[in-house]
Amino acid sequence: MIVFYKRNIEYIERAAVNPDRRRFSVVDEAPRHYIDLDHYGDSAWHKMPRFWNDAVIQYTEDTLKAYGILPWHINRVYYQLRDAFMIRDPEKILRLSAELGHYIADANVPLHTTENYNGQRTGQNGIHAFWESRLPELFSDNYDFFVGKAEYIPNTQLAAWQAVVKAHLQVDSVLVIEKRLSQQYQHSKYTFETKGRQTIKAYAREYSKAYHTLLQGMVEQQMRASIKMLGDFWYTAWIDAGQPDLKALLDRQPSEQELQQRREELEQWKQQNIRVRVREHEMIENQ
Ligand SMILES: [Zn+2]
Repeated sequence: MIVFYKRNIEYIERAAVNPDRRRFSVVDEAPRHYIDLDHYGDSAWHKMPRFWNDAVIQYTEDTLKAYGILPWHINRVYYQLRDAFMIRDPEKILRLSAELGHYIADANVPLHTTENYNGQRTGQNGIHAFWESRLPELFSDNYDFFVGKAEYIPNTQLAAWQAVVKAHLQVDSVLVIEKRLSQQYQHSKYTFETKGRQTIKAYAREYSKAYHTLLQGMVEQQMRASIKMLGDFWYTAWIDAGQPDLKALLDRQPSEQELQQRREELEQWKQQNIRVRVREHEMIENQ
């Protein structure tokens, strides 16, 4: 796996931002990036049904789509990736690996799990980009991104939820700490920075540093969690697909004819294997 992924790392970096690019062109895209857990009440993070079909029964599909489907979408892309490994389609494996990275990273950002995603309800407009862009831009050079070996995940749907819940439980800290700090820095909170020909208002460096320190490594920990989780998901998809030989895919894209045949075989196998089908339907958004 490592050879295959390293060889294609530049493509993966570029393609990882595609889901954000199509947010405005693809109707169903936006809700895949977040889940407003607090919309469902204070203990929703604990009570919310983990599997799509159960959640639809409880809340209806329209409601779920209105408040975000991030944890279910992660699992859906996971199955698409596993299928891409099964038919040994390198282009698809890479595209889905990159996109899974995007959604998994979103799931590890606390502000992707709340209705107050940009501090708009607490007078903290701008905190979203502050936490997820400004802080890493200023400080991630000193982060440690070595997270150890990938591990097999017994249940990817529950793993997606685990990440979302962990992120959600940090929402209060993200907001309360910044609120308190902003009272001390009333006049020096912002600065003007020049980027190219543009001058933009940004959170001041001193202010950013103080916030980063008070967060006690939270941004680094969440980035590490994303990296570990993504490696685990890639590895699990590959194992569940029967460990196909990726070296054989390094220099050769199969013909459309070959791929079509493998797709049909996969469909047949799914038709015959009722247990696989039942399990997927429990877990995947029906579309
Ligand atoms: Zn996103």
